[in-house]
Order: sequence, then structure tokens, then C-alpha cells
Amino acid sequence: MNPSNPTPPDEPRSGPSNFIRDIILDDLKTGKFQGRVHTRFPPEPNGYLHIGHAKSLWLNFGLAAEFGGKTNLRFDDTNPEKEETEYVDSIMEMVHWLGYDWEDRLFYASDYFPQLHAWAVQLIKTGKAYVCDLTAEEMRQYRGTLTEAGQESPYRHRSVEENLELFERMRAGEFPDGSRTLRAKIDMASANLNMRDPVMYRILHAEHHRTGDTWCIYPMYDFAHGQSDSIERITHSICTLEFEDHRPLYDWYVEQLGIYHPQQIEFDRLNLTYTMMSKRKLLQLVQNGLVRGWDDPRMPTLAGIRRRGFTPEALRNFCAAIGVSKTTGIVELGLLEHHVREDLNKRALRVMAVLRPLKVVIDNYPEGQEEELDAVNNPEDASAGTRKVPFSRVLYIEQDDFREDPPKQYFRLSPGREVRLRYAYFLTCASVVKNERGEVVEVHCTYDPATRGGNAPDGRKVKATIHWVSAQHAVEGEVRLYDNLFTEENPSDVAEGQDFTVNLNPNSLEVLTAAKLEPSLLEANVGACYQFERLGYFCVDPDSTAGKPVFNRTLPLKDTWAKIEKRDKAK
Ligand code: ATP
Ligand code: MG
Repeated sequence: MNPSNPTPPDEPRSGPSNFIRDIILDDLKTGKFQGRVHTRFPPEPNGYLHIGHAKSLWLNFGLAAEFGGKTNLRFDDTNPEKEETEYVDSIMEMVHWLGYDWEDRLFYASDYFPQLHAWAVQLIKTGKAYVCDLTAEEMRQYRGTLTEAGQESPYRHRSVEENLELFERMRAGEFPDGSRTLRAKIDMASANLNMRDPVMYRILHAEHHRTGDTWCIYPMYDFAHGQSDSIERITHSICTLEFEDHRPLYDWYVEQLGIYHPQQIEFDRLNLTYTMMSKRKLLQLVQNGLVRGWDDPRMPTLAGIRRRGFTPEALRNFCAAIGVSKTTGIVELGLLEHHVREDLNKRALRVMAVLRPLKVVIDNYPEGQEEELDAVNNPEDASAGTRKVPFSRVLYIEQDDFREDPPKQYFRLSPGREVRLRYAYFLTCASVVKNERGEVVEVHCTYDPATRGGNAPDGRKVKATIHWVSAQHAVEGEVRLYDNLFTEENPSDVAEGQDFTVNLNPNSLEVLTAAKLEPSLLEANVGACYQFERLGYFCVDPDSTAGKPVFNRTLPLKDTWAKIEKRDKAK
């Protein structure tokens, strides 16, 4: 927003209402930040972004955009041991993919190390910080519990001079890792454990991905985060609920330092059923080879979700639908999938592909003849036009679309039964060929030439329409079918001594290597999304090679037949 010409706060807005938006509207009315809205997305570069981060991105970028404000991307890189440039790069790529732009406002908390150090010295000088020699274990003992006050450190009353000298020597590298810390002098009896003289700086002789070996003392996240927001003059510092208890500490730091005070607002983090979002556990899946990598299409990472074929529009719509609140819940994975289907339904081109092929020979179709039939690219979008699909004497259909002994309510192909071939002709099954194991390997049929295009001039009806691919024109491809990565709604909920990996779904990936695809799919671009008619949404995987496309199933269509079959079996 241009501060000299702010949008009037009572003007109708586009975004969905929520309590954070209400706070911003209120602040715009009262002029709290002179009409500014400036948010930030502050990931720690210690892993790949996941679907939970999409919610935070949607909030921070979405709200600022709605009010003509700005959003910074800031890497909160205060922990040199777990952070890597690989993560920084992938985070930036995924923020852009989701459709958000930090423009020229890319920051790193590590760029503020000199300023943070100066502020630490300032707090020592005002008697608000001290160097403590307790070991980590001793500090835990002195800390007290939720019901018991803590004990003051024996080093708490060192003189300012001694603290300044020791802190300087910490920085100069004179002491080993973990031997001393710099702590804020607040209140060891505070009901809030975060206020019991929290550590501000620790000694760590570690290479930092950006500052190299310049520093051997590093600020704690809590000493860096609030001040970084202050330096960037963030107005609304939006974070997840677990930081509510840290807010008094962030407030204390900026007040003691007498610097600009952003307003922190906490919201509920996103949890999804059948999904795990802990970066540590996701790393474990990758490192132990339990998935094919950070971008495995079964992963809840944005890289995985993108590869799976979920669209940024669907993710943003999902975030808008779930909203924000002050209590943490768990959202049904089905809701996310609903938004993906809704979006893909609008944009995905329809094509025909046969995943588990069964050969069909049309005995009365002349050998060597072929023709092209018109097929609609997207019934939801007339502008997508039509295409030509080749037809010939030998076709493939899904094994599932034929039954020698059809159960009740099965209306697809079976001996003597007539069905419609999508966009083509009526087809009647005459006989079958079996292999030595008694399995049907070939179906012989006749077609009715008068039904070209899929309608009978005499008005007779068929109860099923099935898809097909002409055998001689088919492109062979690999298709990867995915199911939930976990079998339990809450995969982290395990018995003591057990690991969340016990809940991994052993059938989360099925690879079909000889799918038959209509020829238009030979030129499909990596990432392109299609609806394979009657089967679901599929997208082109980067593993595709010339002549052999690889497809990921994004999601099946809602399969009502499968439900009927299941119900009938249960009877
Ligand atoms: P860590 O466990 O490493 O602290 P984190 O999930 O907090 O991981 P960050 O990289 O610190 O990850 O997150 C960046 C931003 O995304 C933070 O503002 C954080 O609150 C937000 N965020 C992280 N997970 C979720 C989630 N599940 N739902 C909503 N926001 C989230
Ligand atoms: Mg975090």
C-alpha cells in the first residue's frame, strides 16, 4: 500500500474473512502502522517446504497483497548445523511455484548477526544479560518445572565488565562448544518457562552456509526472530500457535532494546490426515530410502505435491477453504483432494489410456483399415477444442472392463453384451481366447458400422461406455499409481517404543510398466496434467524419456463402481 494513498479500510475486500484479517482491518482503521501492511515468510532452511507451509505462505502473501502491502522472504538461518543451500534454493523455487513473489525483499537472519551481536552487548551493558558457565544439563536442573520456580544461576550476578570481557572471549573462540552461554536476565520464577533467563547466544564452532567461519557464537532462534522482524519493520508477524508462549520474550527483547515493535499474531498450524509434516521425520523418510526423495509424489512436500500434479491454484483454494483459527485441529486429506479435482476438472485435457491392457480384435473391421475419430478435449471448456483419435481393427481396453461371468449390475463388456466405445462405435463381444492358465487374453468382437460417433440410428441404447486405445497406434508408457503414504489418520500416534514408520502404507506405490496411451500423449510436456477418461487425473513425470512417457496418477476419479463392487462383496 502506498502510505500517502491508503485504500480506505471499509472498502469491500476480496479475501475470505478470518480473525487475522480482522486485526489488520482494525489496525488500518486506527492507523496503528500508518496504514502499512508488511508481513514475512520466515522458513528455517533445514528441509523442504510442505503443505503446512502453503498455509503460512497463503496467509502472509495473500493478506499483504489484499491490502496493497508487502511480504518479505526471510531465511531464519541461525542454526548452522542443520541448514543447507540446497534447502534455500528449493524453498525459493516452491514459493514462486505457489504463485508468490518477494520481489527484491529476500533476507537472511544471518545478515543480521553483527546487529544482533551489538544488541547482545547493549543488553549486557544495561545489566540485562550475563555470561553463564552452567552446562546444558545443569541449566536444565536449574530451570525448574511448570509447577516449580527455577533457581538462579550462580553466575547471574557477574559484573557488567566481567560479562563484556567473557562474551568477547566467547566470540574470539577461546572457549569450547557448550562451555558457556549468554543469557537474558529476566525472571527465574516466571510462570512462563521461556522467561527463565533464556539463552541468547551459544558457542558453536561450526561452518555456516552463508557466514562460513566468521562466527563461533550463534544467536538462539528466539533472540534472532523477533529482532529480525523488527529490523524489517514487519507490521504483522504471523506465526503458529506454539509461539504464543514465546511472544512475551520477543516483546521483552524489543522493549529492552527500545526498537520497533512488530505485532505477533498466532494461528493454528495445518495438520492433515494420513500425512506427516515434521521436517525431521520427512528427512528420516528420505535418508532411509523409504521414499524416492524429497520430491517423491507421495511426500507432503510442495516439491512432491507438484510432481504429483497438484496445482498451485488448488492449494490456494484449499487454504482459503480451511481458514485460520486459534485451535489446532486436523483437516481431512479428502478436502485437499477435492480442491485438486475441482481445479483439474476445469483445466485437464481428456485423453484415453489403458492401464492394464486386454486385447480386443474386431473381427468384422477390415484388416489394414484405419480411421480417425473426433474426440472432445475438455467438456468443461469448449475452447479446448477437439482432436483426432486413430481407430483400427485391434484395440486395447482395460482388463477391468471385461468379465466373462459378469456379476449383477456389471454392464460393461461380457459375452453377448453390447457396449459403446467412447467416440467410436457400438461393440459386441463374440468370443474369448484363453491362455493355458484359463485367463482371458484376447476378446473377439463385432462392431456396428452404423454407430460411428457412438450413437445408433435405430435409437437402441447400451448401458456402458468404455475407453480404448488402438493397438497399432498406441504409445507404451509407465504409470505410477499412488495411495496414501500412511495407513493411519494420524501416523505420529504410535505406541511407546515404536516409530512412525510402522504406519507406512506398504502399497503406497504401484508401478504399471506397459500402459497403452493414445498417440497424442507422446508429445506431452513434463508437468502437464491430463484426465485419463474414466481413470483419474495424471501428470507427466520428469522421469519420462523420448518415446517412453512416465505418468503419475495425481488422483483417481471418484470411482462409484468400486464402491458398488465392495458393497456387493460385503453382502
Ligand atoms: P521446525 O520444526 O524446523 O521449526 P517449522 O515447521 O516451524 O519447522 P519453519 O521453516 O520454521 O518450519 O516454518 C516457516 C513458517 O511456516 C513458520 O512461520 C511456521 O510457523 C510456518 N509453518 C510451519 N509448519 C506449518 C504448518 N503445519 N501449518 C502452518 N504453518 C506452518
Ligand atoms: Mg520453525
